[in-house]
Amino acid sequence: MSTAIVRIVSELRSIVAAWRREGLKIAVVPTMGALHEGHLSLVRAALAKADRVIVTLFVNPRQFNNAADLAAYPRTEHDDAAKLASVGAHILYAPNAADMYPPGFATTVSVGDVSEGLCGTFRPGHFDGVATVVTKLLLQSGADLAFFGEKDFQQLHVVRRLVRDLDIPIQIIAGPTVRETDGLALSSRNTRLSLTERHRAPRLAEILVQTANQLSSGVSIKGALTDAREAILAAGFSKVEYLELRADNDLASILRVDRPARLLVAAWLGQTRLIDNVQVNLARSAMAQQAAA
Ligand code: AMP
Repeated sequence: MSTAIVRIVSELRSIVAAWRREGLKIAVVPTMGALHEGHLSLVRAALAKADRVIVTLFVNPRQFNNAADLAAYPRTEHDDAAKLASVGAHILYAPNAADMYPPGFATTVSVGDVSEGLCGTFRPGHFDGVATVVTKLLLQSGADLAFFGEKDFQQLHVVRRLVRDLDIPIQIIAGPTVRETDGLALSSRNTRLSLTERHRAPRLAEILVQTANQLSSGVSIKGALTDAREAILAAGFSKVEYLELRADNDLASILRVDRPARLLVAAWLGQTRLIDNVQVNLARSAMAQQAAA
């Protein structure tokens, strides 16, 4: 099957309207392209739940707080289209920046609370850019379901919140992080790693998992996070931007693992910023307390 490439929103809308008349269920998977198995896992999940799947490809200038990062972002539309055809996506929607943000465009969607802290602190304006473009893409597609990866865990919360706050009639579905066999989370930015850096990179996920296990067994949060930061630096990372434990369901800061939690990290390996996160299961002592109550 070939995947139709659509660039104009009016064309997308008329295709979607025809699908609706047939009573078909429609899913959208927003991406910035340079597709890898992480993106494709979301497309497959979408195909399993919907009759028609739209994958959006838009390298959104508004979510880059660093011009060099935007310039270096990989653009591989031809290969992306072939990958989407092989998994069976129906449409690749790849609008132009000038159509997404025409002269006079003056609206920003800014989500409070869950955008604050973590990447929100280190990438000023990033989540406003994400929230604005995701709002547009969800409304343009008019889909019933939208798929996002847990790899970008804070982004997932930002999207869930804007959909709820703005009453956008779409269901957000999260897919698990897809990893290389050595544990490194797949990311379009991994191609920027040198051979030595690529060799070191999986330590980040390994340290996260070890620390998550320690936290579940009830060790001090402060001590575990300090040790983990040191281990990340010792593994050759140049800087740890943040390493934090947050509540899984609302990203609130937590002082005890008395509910399901997430350990989230952003760290620099040479010129490349990597983010990752893992779930932290309820501490056994908290589980016992809750069972006894
Ligand atoms: P991006 O193209 O990086 O903006 O990502 C598009 C979507 O793919 C987002 O919902 C990401 O969270 C998701 N994604 C990126 N990497 C992965 C991964 N390794 N596993 C699962 N989902 C991912």
